[in-house]
Amino acid sequence: TVGNAPVGSARQERRGFDSRAMRAAFPALHREVHPGKPLVYLDSAATAPKPQAVLDAVRRYDAEFPANVHRGIHTLAEEATEAYEAARATVAAWLGSTDPLGDASRVVFVKNATEALNLVALGWAGSRLEKGDEVVLTVAEHHANLVPWRMLAERRGVTLRYADLDAEGRLTFEAVEAVVSERTLVLAVTGLSNILGTSLPVDRLVALGRSVGAAVVVDLAQAAGRLPAPVNGGWLEADFLAFSGHKLGGPTGVGVLVGRPERLEETEPILGGGGMIARVDLDAVTWTEPPHKFEAGTPPIAQAIGLAAAIDFLDQFDRVAIAAHEQRLAQRAARELAALDGVRLVGAGADRVERHGIVSFVCDAVHPHDLAQWADADGVAIRAGHHCGQPLHRRLGLTASARASFGPYNDDADVDCLIATVRSALARFG
Ligand code: PLP
Repeated sequence: TVGNAPVGSARQERRGFDSRAMRAAFPALHREVHPGKPLVYLDSAATAPKPQAVLDAVRRYDAEFPANVHRGIHTLAEEATEAYEAARATVAAWLGSTDPLGDASRVVFVKNATEALNLVALGWAGSRLEKGDEVVLTVAEHHANLVPWRMLAERRGVTLRYADLDAEGRLTFEAVEAVVSERTLVLAVTGLSNILGTSLPVDRLVALGRSVGAAVVVDLAQAAGRLPAPVNGGWLEADFLAFSGHKLGGPTGVGVLVGRPERLEETEPILGGGGMIARVDLDAVTWTEPPHKFEAGTPPIAQAIGLAAAIDFLDQFDRVAIAAHEQRLAQRAARELAALDGVRLVGAGADRVERHGIVSFVCDAVHPHDLAQWADADGVAIRAGHHCGQPLHRRLGLTASARASFGPYNDDADVDCLIATVRSALARFG
């Protein structure tokens, strides 16, 4: 077992979802950030707070079996290895695998989503793509899914093609389809934009990629926690998936690359060292099988165990209900922000139904940094800047925006606080 939940077997029945009860499980959410100003945390898209169960799981590893994995045969080493490998199966199950134990070898633990995407660009695409081959991205990619491909373009003369937003500022599947051709060898797109809050359908991307023989890479950094995983592993049909543990309430320092078995076989490791080899001679090295071939050195053991605890924690609740709750809060925030004089939403309008827990906006009279500072004085944590999406901001004629993002522990009172602080900033600076 990992945490309290059995791995790979039927999970316990999911509890009804109550955001207040949920909030009680997150110690950081009970802070006062300034005297008399309790924290209103609206920055979960940057990183999510950690539930007590995660803190306990990490502490338990450090206190009870702080050993390395795949190296020792003493009891502590065996316990650590068992917990670390069980964490893989938990991730596979979370992604909708019907055979989590069988699919665990598709799950590679890395540092974060950024490293996972770099591993694909360098280790898989880096030795296969040549001048004239095309990689399709969208203009809304996070830098994590843009810069590695840009680097590949510079090194190997690969051409990058970008799906654009439509006239209403929406990111659509049709726009991706329009730039895909027989020359496309990789389709690397976000499953859910961290700025627009809108998603692209992974199943249709996979079908599109297959139709032209392109590998489909989905940046699931936001989607993994914000969208319910499709039953029977629909996400796992993609060639590669990448996400970070910390956005699910796991610790920082662990991310996940999931690959189809044949793709992982084809991928070259980008780090060499202990743990990833079958045999080392002074003049030759043979590496071991995936996933270990990509996990050189001591892996993020405590962090992977913590990530599994975060997943087990979230898995007690109905994911469809959580997604609907976050969607409702973001839609309400979008509607009320758009109704304020001098406030504009980034991307599509307030009536947008598929806004998955994220709303970005600009105030004509208040710079996003000033707004975020003003909000912080009220205890409201929002994000300000380009959110690692400079091209998208430029495309929209902006340099920066403010962003509120919601988690399962947020409720309508938090939306009220957001609107109140924006209103008062407008009154002060507007
Ligand atoms: N992709 C998206 C859509 C993101 O929102 C983020 C983080 O904000 C990342 C990738 C990168 O995640 P990390 O910084 O954990 O590698």
